[in-house]
Amino acid sequence: MDRIIGIDLGTTNSVVAYYEHGQIQVIPNSEGSKTTPSVVLFKGPNEIIVGELAKRQVVTSPKQAVRSIKRFMGLRYSELTPERLRGIGYDLVRGPDDSILVDVGWTKVTPEEVSAHILRKMRRTAEDFFGEEITRAVITVPAYFNDNQRSATKRAGELAGLDVMRIINEPTAAALAFGVDRSVEQNLAVFDFGGGTLDVSVLHVNRDVFEVRSTRGDTFLGGDNIDELLMAHFARLFEEETGVNLLADVQAAQRLREAVEKVKCELSSMQQTLLSLPFIAAGDGGPLHLNYTVMRSELEQLARPLWPRLIECCEAAIADSHLAIRDIASVLLVGGSTRIPAVQETVRRYFGCEPNRSLNPDEAVAAGAAVQASILSGGLREVLLLDVTPLSLGIELSGGLFSVLIPRNSSIPTTVNKTFTTVRDNQTTVKIKVLQGERKIAAENHLLGVFQLTGISPAPKEIPEINVCFQIDANGILQVSATDVTSGTSKSIVIESIGQLSGEATKQILAVAEEAAAEDQAFLRKIQLRESGAVMSARLQQLLNKEDKPLDPTVALAIKEAIFKFDLAVAAGVLADIEKAFERLEQLSAELAAELLMLDSGDEDLIY
Ligand code: AMP
Repeated sequence: MDRIIGIDLGTTNSVVAYYEHGQIQVIPNSEGSKTTPSVVLFKGPNEIIVGELAKRQVVTSPKQAVRSIKRFMGLRYSELTPERLRGIGYDLVRGPDDSILVDVGWTKVTPEEVSAHILRKMRRTAEDFFGEEITRAVITVPAYFNDNQRSATKRAGELAGLDVMRIINEPTAAALAFGVDRSVEQNLAVFDFGGGTLDVSVLHVNRDVFEVRSTRGDTFLGGDNIDELLMAHFARLFEEETGVNLLADVQAAQRLREAVEKVKCELSSMQQTLLSLPFIAAGDGGPLHLNYTVMRSELEQLARPLWPRLIECCEAAIADSHLAIRDIASVLLVGGSTRIPAVQETVRRYFGCEPNRSLNPDEAVAAGAAVQASILSGGLREVLLLDVTPLSLGIELSGGLFSVLIPRNSSIPTTVNKTFTTVRDNQTTVKIKVLQGERKIAAENHLLGVFQLTGISPAPKEIPEINVCFQIDANGILQVSATDVTSGTSKSIVIESIGQLSGEATKQILAVAEEAAAEDQAFLRKIQLRESGAVMSARLQQLLNKEDKPLDPTVALAIKEAIFKFDLAVAAGVLADIEKAFERLEQLSAELAAELLMLDSGDEDLIY
C-alpha cells in the first residue's frame, strides 16, 4: 500500500503520524518517544545523529548540534537579525547568492539539508513502524511562513526522499485533528503556541469546508522567549552572588538553557520546583553550583510582558475575520507552550470560554497532517481547506491605479474574472502588471509579475473586451490570464509566490496603506477627474469640430480655453487646479447638454 504520512516539522520537536481505520496513530521513534527533538548533530561525514541523542550533545558540541533550524529555512543571510540568532550556539555563514550555510566545522550545510536529516529520521520512524518503504508525505508549516520558507520545506522533504504531496498550515491541520463537528456550521479559533512561533487563526467550518477566515502570527514568540527570560534572570542572580557570568560561557549557557526549559515545563503542573546545575562554573574558591527554588508565580511574573502579545495576536485575528469574540464556538489549544496555566488563563479570559485541550498539544498538528494525508490518498471524505490571501491582488490600470481582483483575506482556492478594455484606438497590445498590496497607487504595491497580451483585434478604444482571470489554487499558486474576447488570443503567467508574508510584514504593509490613505484618495480623485475630464473634453471637442452647426464663437473660445486649462492642470498634477478646471468643463457640458453627442463608453476598466 502506498501510504502517505503526516509530518509536523517543528522548530523544537517533530512528530510523524498516520491515519487509518478512523484512528490517528502518532508513531513512536526508535527511542520510544512520539516527539523527536528537531536537533541534528553533525559529528562527522559518517556520523550524523538526529533527535534525542543529538539534543543531549547540544551542551558538549554546541557548534555541531544544530537546533531550531526552522528559524532559518528559506531565509537570506542578509535577513538574519540578532533576535533570530539569539540562543543559537552554532555558526552561520553567508553562502552563494546570500544564502545561509551552517558551518559545523568539517562541512557547511544548508538549512534545507539540516531539515532533510530530521525528515529522513521521521520517514525512517514510519518505515520501521510499518515495515515498508514510505515515499509520500504531507508536511505542515506555520501559517505565516512565506513562499520561500514553504519552498525550502518542500525541498527538504525531497532531499529526504519524500514526495511532498501538500504543505499545509499548522493551525488548519490542528483543526482537522480535533475532529470538529462538521454537522454544525461554526467558527473556531486555533491558538498555536509552540517553541518559536505563535499562530492564531479563525476558521469557519461548514460541512466539508474548512475555511481559514483570518490568520495572524508572531514568528518571534514562543516557549523559547520564556526560556530566555528565565535564563537571563537566573544568570543575573548567579552573577550577583558569584561574580560569574554564565552567559559568557557557551557550554554553561547551553546547560542553563536546558535546565530552565525543564523548570518551565515542570511549573506547568507544579507550584514550585528546583533549578539545579552542579559544577556550572569555576570560581576562585573551586567549583560553583547553581541551586534555586523556582515558584510558578515567579515564572508568571517574569513572563508577564509576553502575555499582551498573545492578546494582540488574538485581537488581530478576530478583527481580520470580521467576527466578534462571541461568534467563536470553541478555541483549540495547540503547541507545547499552551500547557502553561497562565497561557491557558490568558486565552480563557480573552475568548470568555474554556479552551479545548482534548488533544495532546504536541501531537495535534502531525495528527492533522495525517488526516490530510488520508484525504489525499482517498481514505477519507474530501474536505476543502480554504486558506486566505494576506494582501489584495490585482492589476495596474492606465493612469497608475490599482484595480483589485482578489481582495485581501479572500478564501483560497478562488477564481475571479473581470473585464477590461483598451485606452487607444486600434490598440493591439495590453500590458498586464500583476500586483499585490493595499495601496490605490499601483506603483506603491509589490509587483509580482508582468506579461503582454498581443494580437488584440484592432478596434476603436474602449471597444475590445479583455477578460482578466485570477485563479489561486489550493497550494496558493496564482495563475493570471488575459483573453481578448473577440480574437480569442490568450496569455497567462503563473506566480508561485503570492507572498505568504510574515505577520509582521503584512502588518507593516497594512499600516503604511492606512497612513497613506489620504494620499491614495487624492491620487484616486485625480485619476477620476482626469478620466471624466478627458471624456468631457473629447465630447466638447466634437462640438467644436461640427462643421454643419458651428458654435457661437464666444462659446467655442470658452470651450477651447477650458480644455486647454484642464490639460494644463492635469500635466501639472495639482489636485485643486484639476478640480477647478474640471468644474469649468462640467459647467460648459451642462450648458451645452442638448448639443452634446453622448457616447456610451461602457463600464469596463481601462488598461494599456
Ligand atoms: P512545540 O513547538 O509545539 O513542540 O512546543 C515546544 C515548546 O513547548 C517548547 O518551548 C517547550 O519548552 C514547550 N513545552 C513543552 N511542554 C511544556 C510544558 N509542560 N509546560 C510548558 N511548556 C512546555
